[in-house]
Amino acid sequence: MNTPQAPETLHVRCCIVGGGPAGMMLGFLLARQGIEVLVLEKHADFLRDFRGDTIHPSTLEVMYELGLLEAFLSRPHQQTQTVSLVVGSETLKIGDFSHLPTRCKFIAFMPQWDFLDFLADHARANPHFHLRMLAEATDVIEEQGRVAGVKASTQDGPLEVRADLVVAADGRHSVLREQAGLEILDIGAPMDVLWMRISKLPGDPSQLLGRIEAGQMLVMIDRGEYWQCAYLIAKGAAGRLKEEGLPAFRAKLAGLAPFLGSRVEELQSWDDIKLLTVAVDRLKRWSKPGLLCIGDAAHAMSPAGGVGINLAIQDAVATANILGPLLKHGPVTPEQLALVQKRREWPTRMTQGLQVLLQNRLIDPVLNSKGPISAPWIIRWLTQWPLLRRIPARLIGIGFRPEHVR
Ligand SMILES: Cc1cc2nc3c(=O)[nH]c(=O)nc-3n(C[C@H](O)[C@H](O)[C@H](O)COP(=O)(O)OP(=O)(O)OC[C@H]3O[C@@H](n4cnc5c(N)ncnc54)[C@H](O)[C@@H]3O)c2cc1C
Repeated sequence: MNTPQAPETLHVRCCIVGGGPAGMMLGFLLARQGIEVLVLEKHADFLRDFRGDTIHPSTLEVMYELGLLEAFLSRPHQQTQTVSLVVGSETLKIGDFSHLPTRCKFIAFMPQWDFLDFLADHARANPHFHLRMLAEATDVIEEQGRVAGVKASTQDGPLEVRADLVVAADGRHSVLREQAGLEILDIGAPMDVLWMRISKLPGDPSQLLGRIEAGQMLVMIDRGEYWQCAYLIAKGAAGRLKEEGLPAFRAKLAGLAPFLGSRVEELQSWDDIKLLTVAVDRLKRWSKPGLLCIGDAAHAMSPAGGVGINLAIQDAVATANILGPLLKHGPVTPEQLALVQKRREWPTRMTQGLQVLLQNRLIDPVLNSKGPISAPWIIRWLTQWPLLRRIPARLIGIGFRPEHVR
């Protein structure tokens, strides 16, 4: 009979589960404050397809405050100052970032794995920062009424990490928040997303484009050599689309973006198209003694407006500002942990409120419409009044209650 392997045990001040934008940024910031921090990431690398690629002006501001902006922008990326929507045959400019009160007045597009690699490279230069890849947290360790660490499985066998603080930054399907029994408020999303790449040619338009036709929505992100395309479908409609067949789907794409022409043939099989399920929810309480949830683990964000990464980074900055100085001296109290939710819940509620408004007023009606559609009045206003275009730019580019690195 095999005896179970004894777990390797590690002790750190703070253990962060999840090496996404929230977890990597928090790990970097805490290590910078001299706090011993370990990030556990279940994948072998950051190379995954489900992530958004947007780096917002407020995140670029954080990079500036960290002294990393120049190095960051020297990595391959694209920039856009405007957001346009194509409704039927009309192109409407709906957002203009050029007037934002930030150093960078644009959204940068960089594959998220490059962004996370960049953060990891700079964080690793700090001896207080530790990153374990292929380490999947499976449970919390609770002792005397508080979370005292996490259990994880790694390639080398079971791992137990003991920590004064465990941070769940493990995304919208967070295992830790479930194991910790934190209650979720499900807000719901009417859509899912099909995510795919199509090559880009020199004569193509060069900006962030949303394309709308009756029953269909396509968002095209200019990634230099290719278009990252997000095709929105009504929740659960992927099966029906597959039944209609790949040629029919390609024809839909070509109809929405005629300039793609025969390039839609690059989608050779359904394996080239990833289904991403969309969730919008938030925790009633983001913490319990010894454990704090941030980013999508505390509040899953819809892709509407492309602001989830921004919010995750802002949570990390706020957490480091509030808890970093306290963690230096030892465990933090439940009241101190609750300060993070107090600071970040309002921006989260406001952002999710806007996402739900966009889902209910624009996305859902479009996905369910059969006949020709015209741009809603609010979009017409944005087109006619350039000053108004600064509002969506501010909401997307900076968001509510921007955080600054202390
Ligand atoms: C289809 C779609 C498109 C989107 N597009 C955009 C966009 O363009 N711009 C934007 O700003 N936002 C976008 N979002 C939202 C955005 O992806 C999230 O809000 C953001 O990634 C949240 O960051 P996070 O660090 O909290 O979580 P995540 O990015 O989900 O990172 C969580 C990390 O934890 C790891 N992990 C999970 N479980 C474990 C475990 N048990 N043990 C160890 N590691 C674990 C995961 O591998 C992952 O690396 C999109 C969302 C969807 C669904």
